Amino acid sequence: ESFDAMGLQENLLRGIYAYGFEKPSAIQQRGIVPFCNGLDVIQQAQSGTGKTATFCSGVLQQLEITLVQCQALVLAPTRELAQQIEKVMRALGDYLGVKVHTCVGGTSVVEDQRILQAGVHVVVGTPGRVFDMLRRQSLRSDCIKMFVLDEADEMLSRATMPPEALEITKKFMSKPVRILV
Ligand code: AMP
Repeated sequence: ESFDAMGLQENLLRGIYAYGFEKPSAIQQRGIVPFCNGLDVIQQAQSGTGKTATFCSGVLQQLEITLVQCQALVLAPTRELAQQIEKVMRALGDYLGVKVHTCVGGTSVVEDQRILQAGVHVVVGTPGRVFDMLRRQSLRSDCIKMFVLDEADEMLSRATMPPEALEITKKFMSKPVRILV
């Protein structure tokens, strides 16, 4: 199996190879195509298996670059993780002209507002700052068509939800594809 066989845009493939990936990992082989086809996907795998690049590829493949509006929102439980995701998103999207911004606490609110109002395609962030940006309407949700919850079990348990994160997914996912690696 190769990245070439996944039907990805030429410029996305270039980004993937330029980042140094040669062959898709197991989770990438199973997850990228369903994600790109617009299916809801639950990935259950240890860290280090290539989950980040799976959802980043899926997001990038489906962006409409001429529409400079937030089309994808990625939430992560920590600032560090959000920044790591941003790095991968930027690298893989290097040849697409994608605008990515990270909204996390401990940074300037005014600067976040300025960048969001200037227009981005993808927002990565932690729940507090992202919620703040939505509340201030600096981040508009009208065009968001992709939503990624990274480390969903962690995120949902912090929201005082019971450990059965999978139960919750039933409320906002339709017929999710479950990938266990
Ligand atoms: P993750 O599970 O998303 O935290 O990724 C773990 C590590 O694997 C990261 O350092 C990635 O750069 C690396 N990685 C992900 N996919 C691939 C791939 N297809 N080929 C080589 N390295 C990869």
